[in-house]
Amino acid sequence: MNLPCKGSIIVCLVLLLAPFERRLEGEESPSAIVPGSVVRWSADEIERCGKGGHRWAPLGDACLFPISLTERGSVRVAIRRSGVWKEISLKIGAYPYPVQRLTIKDNSKVDLSSEDLARVRRENRKIGALWRQGGDRSFKLPLAPPLAKLPAGGRFGSQRIINGTPKSAHSGADFAALKGTPVKAVAGGVVKLAEEHFFAGNSVFIDHGDELVSMYFHLDEILVEEGQEVQAGEVVAKVGSTGRSTGPHLHLGFRWHGAKVDPALLLGPVEDLPEIGR
Ligand SMILES: [Zn+2]
Repeated sequence: MNLPCKGSIIVCLVLLLAPFERRLEGEESPSAIVPGSVVRWSADEIERCGKGGHRWAPLGDACLFPISLTERGSVRVAIRRSGVWKEISLKIGAYPYPVQRLTIKDNSKVDLSSEDLARVRRENRKIGALWRQGGDRSFKLPLAPPLAKLPAGGRFGSQRIINGTPKSAHSGADFAALKGTPVKAVAGGVVKLAEEHFFAGNSVFIDHGDELVSMYFHLDEILVEEGQEVQAGEVVAKVGSTGRSTGPHLHLGFRWHGAKVDPALLLGPVEDLPEIGR
């Protein structure tokens, strides 16, 4: 990369970001945004979409902005048209998801030993490297269903209290299914991880380009390998109950541009996403 400066990395960053910041026009959006949602800004001839220093290509005549479950306060999103950035500030609404109390019989999956804690940290570091790999978009919205018969997915965002201890919010959707039910890729992509994790059990992570990663957890069996290219609808695994799980189900999760978003929104019509730009 050709940097416009030499020496201090901070000076470099300021110089790189300055043109972007100068062209912004501040504006408040009218209504509060739900954490974990995806919002849509439609306009003619959008060239780029921007949020938090990241930019990406529009989807047709709209920029879609994933708003992470963990987002609080406000976020700024921007579109570029004819070389000019326009930015609006989105107010994040109150956390809308319920508290869920769960009992896990195997308490070693709740109060972790130091070895298990070290393992979880290692796994989290490995997973964290997947979110921002970029690459060309290889998916269309809505995404393909991960199960042939898709029941209503549940519990996205629920604040979990497991065996009486508050844990992090549930960042995917759980779909009830029988053990052995085929699990299908929601879009074409490349398998980035296919291995057993402490909490998620047998897990598959697929990179679909445009910083979208789909995750399939608690699998009974993994049928793909790391580095393998898959097509939308291809069977990649079988439903199970491995890891910290209370029974056979598919846990489906997404990260898009680093944000944890409700899977139901990417599996449903794009037109249903709230419009913020008009
Ligand atoms: Zn789950």
